[in-house]
Amino acid sequence: MLAASEDFLIEAARGEMSRCWPKPTVAALCAALDAVFRLADATWNARRSNVRYLLDAPAAACKAGCGWCCHQQVGVSVPEAVRIAAHLRTLPAEEGEALSGRVRQVAERTTGMTTLERAATRLSCPFLGAEGGCTIYAVRPLRCRGLHSIDVEFCIACYEDLEGMRERLRKGELKPVYLETPERIFDSALAGVLKSLGKAAPKAVVSLELTAAVAALLDNPRLAERWLAGARPDKALHLRPDHGRA
Ligand code: SF4
Repeated sequence: MLAASEDFLIEAARGEMSRCWPKPTVAALCAALDAVFRLADATWNARRSNVRYLLDAPAAACKAGCGWCCHQQVGVSVPEAVRIAAHLRTLPAEEGEALSGRVRQVAERTTGMTTLERAATRLSCPFLGAEGGCTIYAVRPLRCRGLHSIDVEFCIACYEDLEGMRERLRKGELKPVYLETPERIFDSALAGVLKSLGKAAPKAVVSLELTAAVAALLDNPRLAERWLAGARPDKALHLRPDHGRA
């Protein structure tokens, strides 16, 4: 479920994406989504540099090189998956082939798994670099942008035993450690993207699993046009959540 309540951002993101229709192209979609990323990033940067926020909000524990949260399923919309596949095609040949190969390898192992099954593999996201950074940082999904933890030990414990951590949260033994403000901002941007898609291509409003969807787009670039024209992505590429996020 999206924590989307920043109305101006929902509308601004919807407006940017709406420029792609009625005749969507991959290039136009990428440009529109990049504008949404800039809007959402600027909103978060302004919010987190506000004195009131600095005084009230707990400090995030996230740091460059810390990738504990990048070992789980990531839900993406069709435009985000298309944007990432398009980005991979612009990389220098060797880099693009290496990254695409990693995407295919992880997809072969994890496509069709539920959230808990995927977490139990302890495989990293194929885009997590050797130094712990995101190798597709400029086009990373909105849900990744919104995830900011205040406790790295919690993130490590989720990596080690996601099911157990969920059980402890359910029993009230632990409290969630993710900052609400960035989650709300980036979920609102995502809600705007989906709102626009819902009007133009309602069957394409599904939550896709990042690795599976990008692997499918790499194997068949025509898929992007089909989805944007209104086709429903194959069910095997959909996210299979079990009980929500830890
Ligand atoms: S896309 Fe980047 S930020 Fe998101 S899970 Fe993968 S490596 Fe982490």
